[in-house]
This record gives sequence, C-alpha cells and structure tokens, in this order.
Amino acid sequence: MPKKVGVLALQGDFEAHAKALERAGAEPVLVRTAEDLKSIDGLVIPGGESTTMLKLLDFMNLKDPLREFAREKPVFGTCAGAILLAQEVRNPAQESFGVIDLTVDRNAYGRQIDSRVATIHPAPEFGERAGAGDVEAVFIRAPIIRRAGPAVKVLAEYEGDPVLVEQGRHLVATFHPELTQDSRVHKLFLSKL
Ligand code: GLN
Repeated sequence: MPKKVGVLALQGDFEAHAKALERAGAEPVLVRTAEDLKSIDGLVIPGGESTTMLKLLDFMNLKDPLREFAREKPVFGTCAGAILLAQEVRNPAQESFGVIDLTVDRNAYGRQIDSRVATIHPAPEFGERAGAGDVEAVFIRAPIIRRAGPAVKVLAEYEGDPVLVEQGRHLVATFHPELTQDSRVHKLFLSKL
C-alpha cells in the first residue's frame, strides 16, 4: 500500500507537489479541511505566499488542527511552507507554527535576482538515505535560514546557508524540489513516515 501524503491545497504550487509525491511512490491527498488531515500519514506545505496561506488557514479553521497534526506526524515545508514551519519569521515578522527551531528571513535573496537555479551538494547522509549526487535547487523568492537550533540537522547548504534541514520527523527545504524531476527529496520525506 502506498503511503497517503497530504498536500496543503489552499494556495501555491500544491499540484506540482502532488505529482512529485506520485513520482516518489506515494498517494497524494489534497488537504483543504481539518477532516482531510485524518486520513494521511504526513503533510507537505507547498511554496506560494506564506501571508496568504496564513489567512486561508485561519479562514478554514486549520491552524489548530495543523499544530496538532505536527505533534504526531511528519510535515515537510518548502519555501513558503518552510516559513510557516519556522520558529521565528523576519522581514517582516509574521506568525508561524514553530515546528522547526529555525529563524528565517523572507525574500532574503533580494528583489532583482530573487529566483535562481543552483546546484547544491548535499551532506553524505542525504545520499545514504535518498541517493547520492548533487541536487538541482530551484529558489523562487526564497527565505534564508539565518539560525538553526541545536536539534536541527543540516542536510544541504547553498552559499553557506542551510537550505535543506530536518528536525526529528520534520523536513524543510527553502527551495522547490517539486519543480524538478528528481524525486530524492520527496523520497527522503517518505522515509520519515
Ligand atoms: N516569498 C514567499 C513568502 O514569503 C515564499 C516564496 C515561495 O514559496 N516560492 O511567503
């Protein structure tokens, strides 16, 4: 039986994540209500616009159910999702769920050159768990992780800043692994379920 993995589908590039999860061997479930959270083994919070996502989470009464879900099951946040999962958000400051002990600055690569594709070299541990070799990382108005707490393990960096990290069962990427055909980052998340 493939694992059922939810993708928060209020806003952002949730369709691309659903396809990436399929490629990685999971069964994606689009999540829009608290009820949808009940049937899934893990949840992806996609990229998009974190302020808008927060408003929609509030509107759908999903904030508390999401907090409770993260207490028990793995959550994977990419870009805007990473911002929502962080402990502290700056530039500007914004509410977040504090699921991973990170301080992030939003839109930190600057306005003019805000999106780029980079080759990153993950730590050997990433290779052992997900498959060896470089990863192509697509950054779109990405946040930068300025602080990672002692419980956070850095799996990949770009220009000296962490871009793929985990804390226990949770995973965060500041880039968009769903926008390439390489499914190793999603497979790594599935291995945590
Ligand atoms: N800049 C967006 C934010 O602050 C995140 C961008 C993205 O998810 N690609 O929410």
